[in-house]
Amino acid sequence: MTEQPWTVRRVLGWTAPHFEKLGVDAPRLTAELLLAHVLDTSRVRLYADLDRPLEKGELAAFRTLIARRSAGEPTQYLTGRREFYGHSFQVDPRVLIPRPETELLVEAVLRALPRDSNSRVLELGAGSGCIAVSIALGNARTRVVATELSPDAVEVARSNARTLGVADRVEVRQGDLFAPLAAGRPFEVVASNPPYVARPELPTLSAEVRKEPHLALDGGEDGLDVVRRIVSGASAWLVPGGLLALEIGDGQGPRVQSLLEDAGYGSVRIERDLARHDRLAFGTRNRGPQDTPREGSLGSDPH
Ligand code: GLN
Repeated sequence: MTEQPWTVRRVLGWTAPHFEKLGVDAPRLTAELLLAHVLDTSRVRLYADLDRPLEKGELAAFRTLIARRSAGEPTQYLTGRREFYGHSFQVDPRVLIPRPETELLVEAVLRALPRDSNSRVLELGAGSGCIAVSIALGNARTRVVATELSPDAVEVARSNARTLGVADRVEVRQGDLFAPLAAGRPFEVVASNPPYVARPELPTLSAEVRKEPHLALDGGEDGLDVVRRIVSGASAWLVPGGLLALEIGDGQGPRVQSLLEDAGYGSVRIERDLARHDRLAFGTRNRGPQDTPREGSLGSDPH
């Protein structure tokens, strides 16, 4: 009696319900992503090859991934890749896995940047580099300086900037928030997805999120420790009229709105994501009196 071979079809047919029983998110998709990774192919190509039998080594490698995923390791750490803003980023446990909501931050920054003149963006807490790199790819006239405290994450961000072809316009510097910046020209935009989870909530996060770097999540007692430091420090690094754009957590909108207003930012607004959670906060650096044309004058420049 010959044993039935483990084909792509049969392996997927076994794994998806297995993941479902364990409560793994998107069980079929997860099975496909992991199998495509083991077979060094794409999800779409799996379907062109449903009757392909797996070799012994492939089956063993896939079994290992099933076990690791079942134990709560995020799919993206197992495959080493995550799509973000249409680009494929290298990710591993040294960095937070890019979230789809964060694409809204990238979009807002790209909307704010002029397309016909050069501009400079500062990103604080670059992690994988997904924000900085996506901004650079989205606007060829933009240079991004990205700071990141974790030396491990700095390596990942630099590697993504290189692989995605923008290393000449994305400069990743290691250090805390503004610390790695030398006094110099201010930026048109300061953007950040800082750690904003309130410390008491950290233990309640899913097993997957708890495998991500603590540093990228822990926002202190009320979640806003880093937000407060960014709000108070950013205006000194913005051109007059420049934009501060932050990702924030659900329910933090009113408090971040007050922080921005109390710090003197103008045009403060909070935006929600598609799940209708508070997700983005914006403020602009007010133009100083010297930048505001006096009433009845044509401004300081006679031309
Ligand atoms: N949105 C992240 C989460 O899922 C939090 C990321 C952050 O703190 N910036 O928990």
